[in-house]
Amino acid sequence: MVLNDSDNFVSNGSQRDSPNYDKLHSDNLLAFENVYKTFTFSLISELKEPIMYILFEYIEGEANFEKTLEKLGYLLDKYNIEGDNYESASEVIKQYKRAQGQILANKFNVQYFRYSGTVIEDSRQFCKQRVSKIFSKNEIESWSNLEWEGKIENTNPDNIFFRCGGKGCRHSIRPVSEKMAKSEGFNVYNN
Ligand SMILES: [Zn+2]
Repeated sequence: MVLNDSDNFVSNGSQRDSPNYDKLHSDNLLAFENVYKTFTFSLISELKEPIMYILFEYIEGEANFEKTLEKLGYLLDKYNIEGDNYESASEVIKQYKRAQGQILANKFNVQYFRYSGTVIEDSRQFCKQRVSKIFSKNEIESWSNLEWEGKIENTNPDNIFFRCGGKGCRHSIRPVSEKMAKSEGFNVYNN
């Protein structure tokens, strides 16, 4: 299989209608397991099933971001989890989406990624230097050894792909084709 730049690595349509649903579902499960254990509230065992259900309605079904955020925020509130639960819920959804993209990227053996998203007033320097640029997989993995403001503790070469710039980061690391990387150039920083 060849990766096309138009491939949507996170489908928000209805994967359940796809003839490949079983395969997609097992990738989604793997992504969930990878990301779920990184959340502090994963220690509350009875939360796992309902959170998985909500995220799968989003990734496999037809629930949109707002609806998913609302349901997840409500659930976290119900369990009296400390902090702003809508903020936490938004973080869970973003990280899950990124983890799901990473699973697919591994499957396609993708070697190049774009640091995607936009720059806003309070975007951190780490993100500003990288946004819109293409980087090789090795380069991105090496970022986990750097220190920067907002970095999540214990960021490693594997989870950097869904943690990105750290807490509250709105960016994502999205797969691109080798062809695109070579024509645009990669591993170039913008200060
Ligand atoms: Zn960011």
